[in-house]
Amino acid sequence: MQNLLHNLNPEQLAAVTLPAQSALILAGAGSGKTRVLTTRIAWLIQTGQVSPNGVLAVTFTNKSAKEMLTRLSAMLPINTRGMWIGTFHGLCNRLLRAHHRDAGLPQTFQILDSGDQLAFIKRLLKANTIDDEKYPAKTLMYFINSAKEQGLRAAQVDAYDDFNRKMVALYDLYDLQCQREGVVDFAELLLRTYELLSRNQPLREHYQARFKHILVDEFQDTNDLQYKWLKLMAGTQGAVFAVGDDDQSIYAFRGANVGNMSAFEKEFRVENLIKLEQNYRSHGHILDTANALIEHNSKRLGKNLRTDAGHGELVRVFEASSDIQEAQWITEEAKNLIRDGFERSQIAILYRSNAQSRVIEHALFSANVPYRVYGGQRYFDRAEVKHAIAYLQLMDNPHNDSAFLRVVNFPTRGIGARSIEQLQDAAKQYNISLYAAVPYVAGKAGSSLGNFVKLIEGARFETQNLPLPEMVQVVLDLSTLITHYQSEKEGADRIENLEQLVNAATLFVSEEGFGHDAPALAGPASRPANTLIANDQGIEIIDADAALPTVMSPLSAFLSHASLEAGDNQAQVGQDALQLMTVHAAKGLEFDAVFIGGLEEGLFPHENSSQEESGVEEERRLMYVAITRARQRLYMTFSQTRMLHGQTRYNMRSRFFDEMPEESLKWLSPKIQATWFARPKSAWDEAPESGANAIAQQISKHQTSTGWRIGENVAHAKFGEGVIVNIEGSGSNARAHINFGKFGMKLLDLSIAKLEKC
Ligand code: ATP
Ligand code: MG
Repeated sequence: MQNLLHNLNPEQLAAVTLPAQSALILAGAGSGKTRVLTTRIAWLIQTGQVSPNGVLAVTFTNKSAKEMLTRLSAMLPINTRGMWIGTFHGLCNRLLRAHHRDAGLPQTFQILDSGDQLAFIKRLLKANTIDDEKYPAKTLMYFINSAKEQGLRAAQVDAYDDFNRKMVALYDLYDLQCQREGVVDFAELLLRTYELLSRNQPLREHYQARFKHILVDEFQDTNDLQYKWLKLMAGTQGAVFAVGDDDQSIYAFRGANVGNMSAFEKEFRVENLIKLEQNYRSHGHILDTANALIEHNSKRLGKNLRTDAGHGELVRVFEASSDIQEAQWITEEAKNLIRDGFERSQIAILYRSNAQSRVIEHALFSANVPYRVYGGQRYFDRAEVKHAIAYLQLMDNPHNDSAFLRVVNFPTRGIGARSIEQLQDAAKQYNISLYAAVPYVAGKAGSSLGNFVKLIEGARFETQNLPLPEMVQVVLDLSTLITHYQSEKEGADRIENLEQLVNAATLFVSEEGFGHDAPALAGPASRPANTLIANDQGIEIIDADAALPTVMSPLSAFLSHASLEAGDNQAQVGQDALQLMTVHAAKGLEFDAVFIGGLEEGLFPHENSSQEESGVEEERRLMYVAITRARQRLYMTFSQTRMLHGQTRYNMRSRFFDEMPEESLKWLSPKIQATWFARPKSAWDEAPESGANAIAQQISKHQTSTGWRIGENVAHAKFGEGVIVNIEGSGSNARAHINFGKFGMKLLDLSIAKLEKC
């Protein structure tokens, strides 16, 4: 016991050892929330208040779940394998697999990650000849997901106009199609579990009695459905231990509702609200910077953070003239850090948008600095891997039309668009899957399609007794994917990725505890005698732990893993390489040194958010998350010009600089008047101090034959009033750089932009 608790401060100790009631730990970044949560699980088990299988812990990413399990096994001599620690999605998947029949799902249901979901919706729109200009796939996807995240089925959504009525109808159609194909999207995993437990009382009571302690990390980012799910799981007796930080709520755009924290306090009758105020992560100047920044937010629950670590170094700020120079500077500085003894994996480069990573990667690559990018394209998202996975999916569930369409003619086997059309017609006519419709297609098309079905059936037959890794190997061979890429010019990388899939399967089997020799396709075996548990009313329930080995084959489990991992935007255990990721992906992590790049208006805060105060507040929280990832050293950089999406943009430096304490910052480049670009016209005269903006010099001499003048005030239908700061090209090719104030700098084609003089 001594060991578990002796490293905690008094508030942390109080939190860890709270009685078995619901509690809220509200505390800032780096104050030990995750550590407290993990220690509490260990303490509850060690003191015999709960057995390992009575704990349900929800983490934000698969990676943090794994980390928590590793820490727990270091703290306690127990087998953590059976513990229910995972993300909402992972936990729901586990429940739905075990109770698939009650949930109305096929045993081998498959999970659509967000990329799959979008493709699925596009296919649905096309098959129903819906005008996707009027009803864009992305809009529909957002509509469906946000309805599901509020716990609403199509029939429960209020449609107040024609457009919404159509969206509701499409949502309904979408759900029907998913059901027919045996696939579920991420939000569906939660909603299905919620519905299952709401309507099935014996099952609900079984799990409520089993999970006496529910612990939730990053509680501020739960959405409405997740909150309702927790309420249902806890019932009237369960104790929910929630830890979170309202200042780190960064998923409002995905439906997260920070209001859940105050709702939780009331609805769970929280008597114990504990605040942790000591930060163990960051040195003083870093913490002061974060604290001062977040004070500019109005909607806060209010708390303080202090550190005993001393002031440490000042936060370094650098202004670059271009994004390329910014990247080179970061690279040089990172090399210096490595020379000074920082481990590569302890250096992170964070950015607001994925698009920013390309230039940084280029600079690191040219300088031979090893790096790893997280949250970009994941292994399981690579085209060749998706192809191989599609073959495996079809062997597990042939009614998955997305998988069918992906590989029916890949590698090419003479099945053209016309044959697919015939097949789709047949499937529609009989309301069956494409796979099932193959026998209804006649002629040559029918026989080529029939050969594809034979290929899948043959692969199933040949691998039925093989363990998962060997099955994957056979499928790679039979599908001729490897042979196909051998004939491609740049196929070597793809072949390597495909071969990696065998390793991924081997690792998965050993981590998940499937016997190495267990056949991958193990069908629904007869129920072991000891799986029946009678509840209070004598109704027999099969607990998921007992049911799972009989209903989930290693192949199904592996396919779920591939989808859930693909959806996980989180970093994995770092090799000895620099860590590149978005700020969102860095949540919960910490590094000795952190660079935050692209601190410019329009980028961070992002232009999509900067119009509304609530948007800016969310961006500020995101910046707070970014700053508080750093332990010892923090760099913040911005650039005068940046190429983004094929456009050169001239951005003002981020307003966040004006919100951070001057005494904690060290400007490595001369500090220029922040408002310089914001002021139209006369501002040019004051610019020169900087030398920073070459544009300024061009401006005075520029007078073109385009009918427009540099320095002229103009109005644009979308961006409002602005001032022309530069003109390039001439005649019909002329383009102008225009500063639109709050919309930032835009490069517009003068012959198209329909500008007005004002
Ligand atoms: P975030 O809000 O970023 O998720 P957090 O509140 O979850 O942060 P942790 O990650 O649990 O914070 O802890 C931050 C760091 O402080 C970790 O390295 C942790 O090991 C360390 N730490 C926490 N409590 C103590 C303590 N009492 N003594 C020493 N180190 C501690
Ligand atoms: Mg944490």
